[in-house]
Amino acid sequence: MSRHFDDQTLVIASHNPGKVGEIAALLAPFGAKVVSAGNLGLDEPEETGTTFIANAELKARATAEASGMAALADDSGLVVTALGGDPGIYSARWAGPGKDFDIAMKKVEAALGDTKDRSAHFACALSLCWPDGHMESFEGFVFGTLVWPPRGDQGFGYDPVFMADGDDMTFGEMEPDQKHLISHRARAFRKLVDACFSG
Ligand code: IMP
Repeated sequence: MSRHFDDQTLVIASHNPGKVGEIAALLAPFGAKVVSAGNLGLDEPEETGTTFIANAELKARATAEASGMAALADDSGLVVTALGGDPGIYSARWAGPGKDFDIAMKKVEAALGDTKDRSAHFACALSLCWPDGHMESFEGFVFGTLVWPPRGDQGFGYDPVFMADGDDMTFGEMEPDQKHLISHRARAFRKLVDACFSG
C-alpha cells in the first residue's frame, strides 16, 4: 500500500522551469501547492546513481532533507538496445555542455553505424520522498524504434529520432498532447497519481 500525499506543499526537485511547469500542471487537479527547488535556492545534487530510479531517489531525498517538505524528482532518458542501454542515464550528458541534442542524436546514430537493431525505449522514474525519509518510486516506459534522419521540430531532446511502436510519426512530429498520452513520463505519472494522489 503506497503512502497517500496529504501535505500542503510539494517541492519539485528540479531547476528546469519547463519540467517544473509540466509537473505543476499535471498535479494541479489534486490541490497541492507546487514550488521548485530552484525557487527555494536549493543546490542540485550530483546524479551519482547507476539507474534512473537511483537518480530520481537521490534527488528527491536531497530536496526533502534540505527543504523539510515532501519532494518529487524525475529522471529520464533514452535506452538503446544495441548500445547496451546507452545513452540511458547519461542522455542529457551526451548533448554536451551546450545541451545540443543535434549532436547527441548524431552520436547515437554514429554509435549504431550499420547495426540492424534500431529498437529503443524512453524511461522515466519518478520518486516522491517525504521529510521523514519515506519514499515511493514509479517507472514508465515507451518502446519503439530509432529513425534517421531526425524528423519534426516538436518536443525536445531525442524526440525527432524516436518513433513509438504502432505509430508512423516520431515524437518530434507529434502534437504535444498526442505524445503526452503515451509517453514514458505520462505513464510514470499515471502510476504516481493512482498510488499517491487519487481518492
Ligand atoms: P534528466 O533531466 O537528467 O532526466 O535528463 C533526461 C534527458 O533524457 C533529457 O535531457 C533528454 O535528452 C532525454 N529525454 C528524456 N525524456 C525525453 C523525451 O520525452 N523526449 C526526448 N528526450 C527525452
